[in-house]
Amino acid sequence: MSGGMVYLVGAGPGASDLVTVRGKELIESCDVLVYDYLVYDELLYWTKLDCVKTYVGKRSGYHTKPQEDIEKLLINYAREGKTVVRLKGGDPFVFGRGGEEADALLASGIPFEVVPGVSASMGTAASMGIPLTHRKDSSAVVLITGHEDPKKPETVIQWNEYAKLNATLCIYMGLTNLAHIVEQLTEAGLSLDTPVAVVRWATLPSQQSCTGRLGTIVSMVNNASIKPPAMIIIGEVVKDAPKFSWFEQKPLFGKRIAITRTQQQASELMHRLHQLGADVIELPLIQVSRAESGEVKKEVFAELGSYEWILFSSPNGVRFFFEIFFEEFQDVRSLGFMRIGAVGPATAKEIEKHHLQVEVMPDKHTGSELAKALIESGNIESAKILVIRGNLGGDDLINPLEENWAIVDQFEVYKTEPTDLSQHPGAEKFKEIGADAITFTSGSTVRSFVKQAKTLQLKDGAQSPKAFSIGPVTSKVMNEMKIPFGREAKESTLDGLIEVLLAELAE
Ligand code: SAH
Repeated sequence: MSGGMVYLVGAGPGASDLVTVRGKELIESCDVLVYDYLVYDELLYWTKLDCVKTYVGKRSGYHTKPQEDIEKLLINYAREGKTVVRLKGGDPFVFGRGGEEADALLASGIPFEVVPGVSASMGTAASMGIPLTHRKDSSAVVLITGHEDPKKPETVIQWNEYAKLNATLCIYMGLTNLAHIVEQLTEAGLSLDTPVAVVRWATLPSQQSCTGRLGTIVSMVNNASIKPPAMIIIGEVVKDAPKFSWFEQKPLFGKRIAITRTQQQASELMHRLHQLGADVIELPLIQVSRAESGEVKKEVFAELGSYEWILFSSPNGVRFFFEIFFEEFQDVRSLGFMRIGAVGPATAKEIEKHHLQVEVMPDKHTGSELAKALIESGNIESAKILVIRGNLGGDDLINPLEENWAIVDQFEVYKTEPTDLSQHPGAEKFKEIGADAITFTSGSTVRSFVKQAKTLQLKDGAQSPKAFSIGPVTSKVMNEMKIPFGREAKESTLDGLIEVLLAELAE
């Protein structure tokens, strides 16, 4: 088979939105993804479902795959006709052995392309507010590896030469040799007053940094217990870093928030919390899947013309209902003249995607409030109402309607089930270090959390999170399940939840 191809792609410094557009396109479409330690997990979710993902990086406790084996792997997959993305942290041609891999591919006659990435030095400079060059202070930048064993008799790295350049020095992989590097540079004449920044996990919510001077940086790094991987930037340009610092000023910077929605629903909340600087741990405690009875579907679709109202109590209900509806009908007008009610704005937004207007939406976003709003909107006695629902809940919407003599048909279109998080990386992280906050957005996530209490049990020393609820229905379940909760959103929407998190956690 022919047609295989290898792309050497830079994953950028960490934050998933700092990958190039081309890089993202390739991750989304490749057949095989071969990736390293410094590639942030979120990027791995972008792949096709059947993409083969192979981890070849080094992490404490694991062995690095020898470079020749990685090269063989790329070549073999390409020979099978696969599109292979070789994803590396930062830029593939900056201390990433990208050159060696390109050589090997060339020797084997495998076509390849290179997609650059934001290298760690540039990512660090950006998030710390360090201009790498400056008309007054520095007109050159040097990218150096600090990895070289200082005891090696013949050193390749000429620290004494770098000291004289009057340039900004960006040192990769140098943290464990920091004392030696400082010694070499100062011996060669660099002033002890030269500003230095040391930054771990730059651009990520877990970023940790300290800025000081050559003379003090070693003890500062020790005091702050900054560990690899970290970038060291040395030069006059670093002096403005505290003034320009914008990333660490974000309102939720340094806060860890666990979110418990389904994987599909988590992304908006996660994205917004990331934008506010928070470190997000995903605990997808529930999963939602389409589930309808063919019998009920037939009855409901036969009666579409007779309903006065159709009510939706969740965005999932809207999504699955229309998926089923459009399998049967080609034209949205087959829905008839029903009036439409939605429990809240997220549900309404899904409905409006079909260019349908929502006529009733309560101020408080619960099923009973939707029923109340409908009852108040006019006489519903003998009115035929179709309620679109999942397998859980729903009674608080249906009971009051029936008590007011409406004729209610229910169409269950999805089911919510607890997931098993025992093998989930988010659960591992949560147990290990805990979080500042955990958010619950439905009663079913609360129940699943309690059911898996053992799997999610925090280890000694892990931070115990404050629990947040999206609204009264969720809070009620939390109360029943005896989860002490911190605060409830004023408005039962993601905006409301974010508002209460900011009020409680932002400094
Ligand atoms: N190809 C990569 C560099 C790989 S070498 C690039 O272009 O960035 C690995 C070193 O990069 C680490 O030891 C650390 O010094 C640096 N590094 C990578 N990501 C980093 C980050 N987010 N923050 C700080 N340093 C980082």
